[in-house]
Amino acid sequence: MSTSTFPLLGIARHRMGTDGEGVTTLAAGAGCPLRCAWCINKKLLRGAPAEDVTPEELLDRVRADHLYFCATGGGITFGGGEALLHADFIREFREICPPEWKITAETSLFVPRSYLAEATDAVDLFVVDCKDMNGEIYRKYTGEDVSVMEENLHFLLERTGPERVIVRVPLIPGYNTEEDQKKSAEALRKMGVEKLDLFEYVIRE
Ligand code: SF4
Repeated sequence: MSTSTFPLLGIARHRMGTDGEGVTTLAAGAGCPLRCAWCINKKLLRGAPAEDVTPEELLDRVRADHLYFCATGGGITFGGGEALLHADFIREFREICPPEWKITAETSLFVPRSYLAEATDAVDLFVVDCKDMNGEIYRKYTGEDVSVMEENLHFLLERTGPERVIVRVPLIPGYNTEEDQKKSAEALRKMGVEKLDLFEYVIRE
């Protein structure tokens, strides 16, 4: 019997090539400890009610795409908000979902180490939005210290190896430059990251 719940904001089915391989279904959860200046989620989801679901209830809602997941190597992506705030739920969901499904977590890695440790065996692919590796830029954009993300990334790479980690490096209008983005990518390669995704935030005001 599962003991955790997930504050479900919504489900998006039939996603292709968004994160990792295959067809995925996104389960978006509420809550994030960061306060990013351009957070689209805050704007899109302001006032949206979250519904607490158990792992069994979520499984019932997403199992319709079982054959797609198996045929394409896809599965469930936990996003948000910050997916790893719900590491206990993800672990319990992993225990009851079909073993062929791939579990992906979208994360900033700005979470307590114990949450990350709980998720490492349950998650097949971590998609990390690092913001920027420069401490000043990171603090200006998120209001927080970059060292939490950095130290968690070291821990994650050690625990999972680089093949289960994609780090997304954004160009953030008004906060960093293409030069900063390249420097972040270089610093990440030195840390052992092999899968990098450089992209630009699209700001909708
Ligand atoms: S990490 Fe993502 S959800 Fe959290 S504040 Fe930043 S952009 Fe928003």
